[in-house]
Amino acid sequence: MSAPRGHRAEAIVVRTVDFAETSQIVHLVTAAGLVSALAKGARAPKGAFQGGLTLGVMGEADLLPRRGAELELLRAFRVSDGLRGLRDDLDRFAAGGRVLGLLRDVARPGLRNEALFRAGVTALKAISTTPPALAPTWVLVFEARALAASGHRPQLDACIVCGDALRREVVFAPALGGAAHRRCAEEGPRPSFPDGVRAALSRVHSDRWASFVADPLPPAAVRAVRALHDLFLPYAFEGSVTVSRALRRG
Ligand SMILES: [Zn+2]
Repeated sequence: MSAPRGHRAEAIVVRTVDFAETSQIVHLVTAAGLVSALAKGARAPKGAFQGGLTLGVMGEADLLPRRGAELELLRAFRVSDGLRGLRDDLDRFAAGGRVLGLLRDVARPGLRNEALFRAGVTALKAISTTPPALAPTWVLVFEARALAASGHRPQLDACIVCGDALRREVVFAPALGGAAHRRCAEEGPRPSFPDGVRAALSRVHSDRWASFVADPLPPAAVRAVRALHDLFLPYAFEGSVTVSRALRRG
């Protein structure tokens, strides 16, 4: 049998835990899924990691799987973007924390999800480099991409129960997965879903990232979409208890 081969992967550091004297256990989200790895001597001042890895940086991880072990070995990490902007403003910091938390909760070991990883990279760069007032919008757009990447995009253009057009008495039914007539939705919470809010939620789930720079969502629309995502994400990512906990905290 040959020895396990090393591999390189673009990665986002979503969690670091100090381990033993100078080491760290790091959790990385990559296009190939969640990777947990031991960075030996990471916190040693003259080690290969310059004093340790920081939560929320992006770069290229040099990994070596260890036969029969859950933790891979992280041999090196070259930071490509330190996302410094996340750490110089409270709104950006909070938004970055939500993106990292959701990445951590949704990514799975060995489960490839390129779209989720790309959305994480785009969201963190956007939060870090655009005006802090846009940060809450980037969190919503990231959540929309994470939902789509996991097969949970909400249906908004017709009643999710009967399939007919949505003209009046429209509600958002998170338990059913989208918009519905009030008379059709019988399960779970059913807040009313006026056309303006439906248009804002549609934009968040369909428009390109750049469109929100050119034409920002008004603050009231951001708040309304935030409230709907807070209802919807725990249903969509059902079974992931940590997601609902993270949402309640946020
Ligand atoms: Zn209906």
